[in-house]
Amino acid sequence: MSRDRRILPQMRFHCEGAFFVLEKAARENKSFDIPCGICYNRGTYIDMIGENVVESLHIGNHLSSAGGYLAMGKEAKELDADVFAFFTRNPRGGKAKEIDPKDVDAFLTFAKKNKIVRLVAHAPYTLNPCAEKDSLRTFARETMADDLRRLEFTPGNYYNFHPGSHVGQGTQTGIELCAALLNAVLRPTQHTTVLVETMSGKGSEIGKTFAEVRAILDRVELSDHVGVCLDTCHIWDGGYDIVDHLDDVLAEFDDVIGIDRLFAVHLNDSLNPRGSHKDRHAKIGEGQIGLEALVRVINHPLLRRLPFILETPNDHDGYAREIALLRGRFGEDKNGK
Ligand code: FE
Ligand code: FE
Ligand code: ZN
Repeated sequence: MSRDRRILPQMRFHCEGAFFVLEKAARENKSFDIPCGICYNRGTYIDMIGENVVESLHIGNHLSSAGGYLAMGKEAKELDADVFAFFTRNPRGGKAKEIDPKDVDAFLTFAKKNKIVRLVAHAPYTLNPCAEKDSLRTFARETMADDLRRLEFTPGNYYNFHPGSHVGQGTQTGIELCAALLNAVLRPTQHTTVLVETMSGKGSEIGKTFAEVRAILDRVELSDHVGVCLDTCHIWDGGYDIVDHLDDVLAEFDDVIGIDRLFAVHLNDSLNPRGSHKDRHAKIGEGQIGLEALVRVINHPLLRRLPFILETPNDHDGYAREIALLRGRFGEDKNGK
């Protein structure tokens, strides 16, 4: 575990113990400096202290990065989002725009003022860590290394990626190749946590079971720099029954991976039935998972403090509606009261 991460004021602890202290400090209107019992992050959190620090839903959606960071921050604010995702470059791959430090500075000031608390950058879809061809794996490695370099401009955030498709080499080889890529690009001094996304198992995708995700994490040397992003559409399509057995699914996640390794949730409905291995996202409440099950997801005690990212097929107004809908349903207990 590294103990020297630079902490931005808007950075948040993810573990229960630290949130408890934060709540207490908020009540006593004090600043504090404690290490998180799980990740050993340390920092002074006075800037984040406010009435709603603990009990507000952290939700946002995938935004276009074409206009830069400040533009994304402003759009998030318009949508009433306090977290957001974006592609680090064209989702189909290709060259990334160089970072404009002025834009980043303006964004960080804007984010602090407007309480935007987390970025969850998404690697391009074409990045396949377990491709068979050397040239494709080199592309994946160089792309991820370059993305992580650029994400150092906004330290303390997340970068999620698809662990890839083994294209006939077998799941075991896929796991080894994916872990090898992480071991090649992760740096002890980086300030971004890299998240393996849980996948639906479409085609030859790896990461379709919690055990496969765990197997990847187990092979990563700098393990405090990696975690998991859980996609509700993907695990539903992968066969996990988050509609009728959410508690059991999360208990299994905890057993197999450890709930402390979960840093973010992609909140999506699914067009297809459980176990279909299709990966077609639906709008919230318009798919086979349904609104009520997704409301239980955002309110679950093991999940409620995480950033929730919508990757639903929506335009600007559609996202604003989904965010408002879910904010309105946050704080309900399990019985829907
Ligand atoms: Fe994804
Ligand atoms: Fe996703
Ligand atoms: Zn998906």
